[in-house]
Amino acid sequence: MYDYLIVGAGLYGAVFAREAADLGKSVLVIDKRQHVGGNVYSEDIEGIQVHRYGAHIFHTNDAEVWSYVQRFSDFNRFTNSPVANYKGELYSLPFNMYTFNKMWNVVTPQEAMAIIEEQRKEIKGVPENLEEQAISLVGRDVYEKLIKGYTEKQWGRSCKDLPPFIIRRLPVRFTFDNNYFNALYQGIPVGGYTKMVENMLSGIEVRTGVDYLEDKEKWDALAERVIYTGPIDAYYNYQYGYLEYRSVRFETELLDIPNFQGNAAVNYTDRETPWTRIIEHKWFEFGKGNQEKTVISREYSSEWKPGDEPYYPVNDKKNSDLFEKYKSLSRQEEKVFFGGRLGEYKYYDMDQVIKASLEAFRNATRI
Ligand code: UDP
Repeated sequence: MYDYLIVGAGLYGAVFAREAADLGKSVLVIDKRQHVGGNVYSEDIEGIQVHRYGAHIFHTNDAEVWSYVQRFSDFNRFTNSPVANYKGELYSLPFNMYTFNKMWNVVTPQEAMAIIEEQRKEIKGVPENLEEQAISLVGRDVYEKLIKGYTEKQWGRSCKDLPPFIIRRLPVRFTFDNNYFNALYQGIPVGGYTKMVENMLSGIEVRTGVDYLEDKEKWDALAERVIYTGPIDAYYNYQYGYLEYRSVRFETELLDIPNFQGNAAVNYTDRETPWTRIIEHKWFEFGKGNQEKTVISREYSSEWKPGDEPYYPVNDKKNSDLFEKYKSLSRQEEKVFFGGRLGEYKYYDMDQVIKASLEAFRNATRI
């Protein structure tokens, strides 16, 4: 009998497993996929670490989380600075003085602020949706060229029907600073995310390619407690209906050229280009060595259907209400605890998932 069965070998599960094992608990980790790492999984193609389930750039303001991950990997000094391509015009992201200079030819922060001040006047009162929030942060011009098309492709919904908080993830700066994140610490694990997660799981029994929900009773009988990091609605057999997600499809290509776009991420912010962005993986590691080839991934956003990989929870009212129904079922469980992006139906960044897992473990072992 194990102390813990952990369902899902992503960051949440791996951190929980590490903490439990370090306290001397016996742990079994299982995952439906053939590999560990969940969506941070990366694999080597021609010496390039390819982020198989989308770009992951580790960033955090939390010193505890930052020092925690250092135990499992060194981190390089990668700083995310995506470029936006709007119909062939290139803009710096996030929204900063380089962006405003290109958009309006302004040179000083005062000039940029004056234009935004003028343009945001159309929004009266507290912004109620993403469109109003975006215009009130950066004005209509930036909204039309850099936000509207991208967001509507990404979420498959009108900006008028999306919550304001999504766009508040992005910084707006009146300095010449292209760092996409307001985070004290940032970088990519040297050697890749998969290696980092394997290090977290070192010495812990892991079985991949097994589907917990197909034989739940059998697995449950193996452990005192179960930490379930899969979709909460799937656990309850979708009895109240499906929680909605956005899914992403990647078209990955190995190209016989050393440099495709000169940057890790280029966002295509117009409505017409079918992909949302192109990732050129080698730049996460500065194209180390003399790599003759490059690997790129075009990202296409789509509505999730049963059988697809779930990526982004759609935290609108309808889905939040539905989640609450599943949540109340889960509160009645004595043996099973739900965690992580899918278990909690939350738009978590990696550092938040690690934090949540560390806290859940502390709570679980508090006497
Ligand atoms: N966004 C945008 N234009 C961009 C990049 C992002 O309008 O070029 C908006 C979009 O609505 C997106 C949100 O900002 O959903 C948050 O972006 P972020 O990069 O944090 O999303 P993620 O990395 O989770 O895909």
